[in-house]
Amino acid sequence: MVQIKNPEQIAKMREAGLVVAAIHAATREAAVPGATTKDLDQVARKVLAEHGAKPNFLGYGGFPATICTSVNEVVVHGIPSDDVVLKDGDVISIDCGAIIDGWHGDAAYTAFVGSGHSPELIELSRVTEESMWAGIAAMKQGNRLVDVSRAIETYIRRQPKPGGGKYGIIEDYGGHGIGTEMHMDPHLLNYVDRKRGKGPKLVPGFCLAIEPMVSLGTPRTKVLSDDWTVITTDGTWSSHWEHSVALTEQGPTDGTWSSHWEHSVALTEQGPLVLTAPDGGRAKPAEPGITAAPDPLA
Ligand code: MG
Ligand code: MG
Repeated sequence: MVQIKNPEQIAKMREAGLVVAAIHAATREAAVPGATTKDLDQVARKVLAEHGAKPNFLGYGGFPATICTSVNEVVVHGIPSDDVVLKDGDVISIDCGAIIDGWHGDAAYTAFVGSGHSPELIELSRVTEESMWAGIAAMKQGNRLVDVSRAIETYIRRQPKPGGGKYGIIEDYGGHGIGTEMHMDPHLLNYVDRKRGKGPKLVPGFCLAIEPMVSLGTPRTKVLSDDWTVITTDGTWSSHWEHSVALTEQGPTDGTWSSHWEHSVALTEQGPLVLTAPDGGRAKPAEPGITAAPDPLA
């Protein structure tokens, strides 16, 4: 069952999403050589407290921290630690979440620590991020879930990899529905698996966390003995980007909706609202001609 949200619920998710965006901004500034990943966790904790938001990662399945910090060959679910000291040249993905009034936000980004990163690494992160935006642009009425997967995969496959070879689209993890829980139906693959069918239709109120994970080599992963840390089986470095996105339908259809859309234009149009992007995802979807939904909190 897919949980479909009404505009008030999407507005709550936007609140949670903006807290996640604030954690991104604060941790991005703190991810410098010499900082530990535990330092970043404390930064995230502070931002959550300042916003009166609850953590959704802490205690999830026993996860011991507020954010995930995944350095270099770690793909996802790295545990913040005093022992992991960031150094010049590292690549870290930072995955953050927040709960406001029971509604969840979840988003991740990849950052370069210090300087001196190879063109291959810079391109890896760019391709991963852009594939996320390609997936977001595919979140439109009339599409099905598989169209989001296809958009992500197609984007990655069309990008030439510096130095040759293929990118590894991580197979064991993917995106997910999000709402009153962080992980909800449906699971979103970052590639097309014909055995799975087309998946549900995308309708207004459909909310997804879209999160491609890409490596410089293998699509395969293994979990370390801490039961969380996911690394590539060949040790190649990886990138992870994620946004929580709501498919909305703009237009005052009744009295309760109208207050949320008071700054919107009169014509009905549909578009994705990127809940965890500070600008609601207006700039990036505009590149392929997608109009993002207006911000319900604006
Ligand atoms: Mg996440
Ligand atoms: Mg997620």
